[in-house]
Amino acid sequence: MAKKNPNLSSPIKRGMVFIISAPSGAGKTTIRSHLLRRNPQLKFSVSYTTRLPRPGEINGKDYHFVNREEFRRLIRKRGFLEWAEIHGELYGTGRPALEKLLSSGKDVLVEVDFQGQAQVKKTRPEAVSIFIVPESLAELKQRLRKRGTEKQSELRTRLKRARVELSKVKYYDYIVVNQEKKIALAVDQVKAIITAEHCRRKMVQGLISFRS
Ligand code: 5GP
Repeated sequence: MAKKNPNLSSPIKRGMVFIISAPSGAGKTTIRSHLLRRNPQLKFSVSYTTRLPRPGEINGKDYHFVNREEFRRLIRKRGFLEWAEIHGELYGTGRPALEKLLSSGKDVLVEVDFQGQAQVKKTRPEAVSIFIVPESLAELKQRLRKRGTEKQSELRTRLKRARVELSKVKYYDYIVVNQEKKIALAVDQVKAIITAEHCRRKMVQGLISFRS
């Protein structure tokens, strides 16, 4: 009779960190909501930011909207896994909530820019990074215009920044192209990456035993 693998009854396996980056307007928020709906094992790490909420954004769901003073206090308390200044505002990934989710066995989706990606990879090289790109810059421009949440000057800043962000693609583990009207395909590709990463030998070895 096969011996019971002691590892299988061991405490819950820790979850994995999946980093998602994308230039503003590339569709990552839509991809994220589809992913979370389809995968209860996956949780979103709600970042902290000093920027103001956009119409429709909910405090505690999209971001924890805080003032600079509170953000600085969290930095001093070592409350962030990483943080960065983007478009003149501060953004950071809260450490305690993320740790809690990982220990409970959940995978965590961390949405950060390329600076955040580099910082997370430095402390957690096992984190898997995915860059979502639009088909072209022209397409991105059109999407940002359609969204209409930014003033003309902000739009220009975001497009300039998008060019910088797209040049960082080479530091990511995976690239997913989000084609217009093919969002389901992009969602499937991210799901496939998550599934494949869980099947990596190093993730599975130790959990199974073929000895009789
Ligand atoms: P937005 O203001 O459009 O929501 O986000 C602007 C940028 O900030 C995006 O590239 C987004 O991925 C990034 N971002 C959001 N949260 C964090 C965070 O916690 N850390 C870092 N480094 N970037 C973040």
